[in-house]
Amino acid sequence: MLLASIDIENLYTSIPQDKGVECIREILSHSGKSEKVTQFICESLTFILKNNAFLFDEVWYRQIGGVAMGTPVACTFANLYVASFEEKYVFTTSNPFLKFVRCYHRFVDDVFIAWDGTATNFREFVEFLNEKNEMNLRFTYKVDSKKMEFLDVLIETEGGELRTSGYRKPTAFNSLLQFSSYHPQHTKTALPYGQFLRLRRINDTDEKFISQAEELKQRLVARGYPVSIINTALKRALAQDRNNLLATNKNKKAKQDTKVKSSDNPVSRFSFSFKFSPLEKVIRRAVHNSWSLIKSDTDLGKLVHDRPLITFKRCKNLRDAVTSSNFCSNPKTTDWLTKSGPTGNHKCGTCIWCPNMKIGKSTQIGGEIIHVNTLITCRTQWVVYAMICSCGRFYIGSTKRTLNTRFREHVYSVKTKKGAPCFIEHMNSEHKGICDNLLFQGLEVVRSKENSDKRKLLLQTEAKWIIKLNAAGNLGLNERVDYSVFL
Ligand SMILES: [Zn+2]
Ligand SMILES: [Zn+2]
Repeated sequence: MLLASIDIENLYTSIPQDKGVECIREILSHSGKSEKVTQFICESLTFILKNNAFLFDEVWYRQIGGVAMGTPVACTFANLYVASFEEKYVFTTSNPFLKFVRCYHRFVDDVFIAWDGTATNFREFVEFLNEKNEMNLRFTYKVDSKKMEFLDVLIETEGGELRTSGYRKPTAFNSLLQFSSYHPQHTKTALPYGQFLRLRRINDTDEKFISQAEELKQRLVARGYPVSIINTALKRALAQDRNNLLATNKNKKAKQDTKVKSSDNPVSRFSFSFKFSPLEKVIRRAVHNSWSLIKSDTDLGKLVHDRPLITFKRCKNLRDAVTSSNFCSNPKTTDWLTKSGPTGNHKCGTCIWCPNMKIGKSTQIGGEIIHVNTLITCRTQWVVYAMICSCGRFYIGSTKRTLNTRFREHVYSVKTKKGAPCFIEHMNSEHKGICDNLLFQGLEVVRSKENSDKRKLLLQTEAKWIIKLNAAGNLGLNERVDYSVFL
C-alpha cells in the first residue's frame, strides 16, 4: 500500500462561474429541493459570483472568473464543485484506477489516498484526472511508501496499518493566541483544552500524545498562558477516551437530536451578539435580567429560548487601523495621523441655536462667494461671523466667546433694542422683531498665541470682512468700518 496526497492548484480562482452554477444546480436537483428553491439559490449564486468588485490602484475591477475568496459562499461552492468532479471522474466505473483506491479523504482542495497500486499507477491516475479539463481543475501529487502529511496529521504505515500523529510544517511558528490578547477570558481559558483535544484525536497512542502535548505546553507558556490553566487542560484532555473524540459528526448529531426531542423544546437557542467589551459581564447580566420581558411577550416568547446565547463579534484591531487592502501606487500624502479634518460650518448638534446655523463649506453673502477652510460650529470661539436675514441683508460681527452665545445676544437685542442699531431697526421694521429665519455663520477663525494681540487681530479681521463684503453699505447692516483697529 502507498500513501498519496493530491492538491488542487488554485481551486478558488480556477472554477468557471457558469460551469460551477451548473454543477450546483445538478446537486440541488438530486437533493429533493423544489424547483423554486433551486432556481432561487442558483440565481443568487450567479449574482454573487458575477458581481464581485474590488478596487486596485484607484481602478475598479469586476472578477469574471473563479470565486472571490472573501465571500462566505466560496468554500461551500468550491467544495461542491470538487464533489461534482469526483462523482463524474473518480467514483465512477469509467475510472480504470478506482480499484486501486483503498481510502479517499478530502478537505476542500487537499486529498489523502491510501493506494493499492504502484507509484506509476498513481501517476497515471493523476494524469487521467488532469485530462478532464472541461472542469478546469489541475492536480499535483505526492506519493510515498512510508509516510505522508495531510493537513495537520502525519500518516505512516506500520505492518499494513495506518498510524497517525500530529504534524507541524517545518516553517510553522508559534501563532497561538496571546494570553494577554483583548479577548473574553473564557475564550483564552478554553484554548489550551481545545488544542490538547486536537492532539488527543490525532495521536493514536498515549505516548505520542504526551510527547506532543509537552511541546504544545512550551508554546503555550511562551504565549503567556498560566501553567495552572495549561496543566488542568492537559489532565482533562488526557482523561478523554480517544474513540469518543473520534465519533463522527453524524453520530454526535444523532445524539443531539435525541436530546432535543427528549427535552421537548423545539426552539433553537437565540444568539445575542455584540462586540466584545470589558463591560461584557455587565452587559451579559443586563441582557439576562431583561430577557423575561421578551419571554413574557405573547408572540416573541414562543420564538426564543429561556436564555439567550451570548456571542461576541470581532473588534477592530491594530491591523485594521494600520493596513488597507486598497493598494495605491500614488499614495496620498495624508494618512490617518495627518489627514485634515472636516471644514466649513457645522451644527454643534447640542444647542438650541443649531437650527439657525447655516451649514456648508462655502456660502454666498452680498453676492460674494466665500469658502470656509476651517471647521466652525455653534461653539467655535474667536470667530468672525455673519448673520444673514431671510431678505438677503446681512451683518458682520466678531466674538471671542462662542458663536451661539453671541448669536443669542443678537436675537435678544432685537427686543431690548440695545446693540447694533441698523440690525435691530431692520429686524423690527421689516420682520416684526421675529428672528426665526435669521441665520448665522462663521467666516474665519482667528489664531494667535498671545491674547492681547489676538483681540486686536480679531477686530482687524472683522473690519477686513466688513470692507470686503461692503457690510457698511448696500445690503449690509453694519454702521461703519472702524479703521482705528489698524492703528
Ligand atoms: Zn449648535
Ligand atoms: Zn431682513
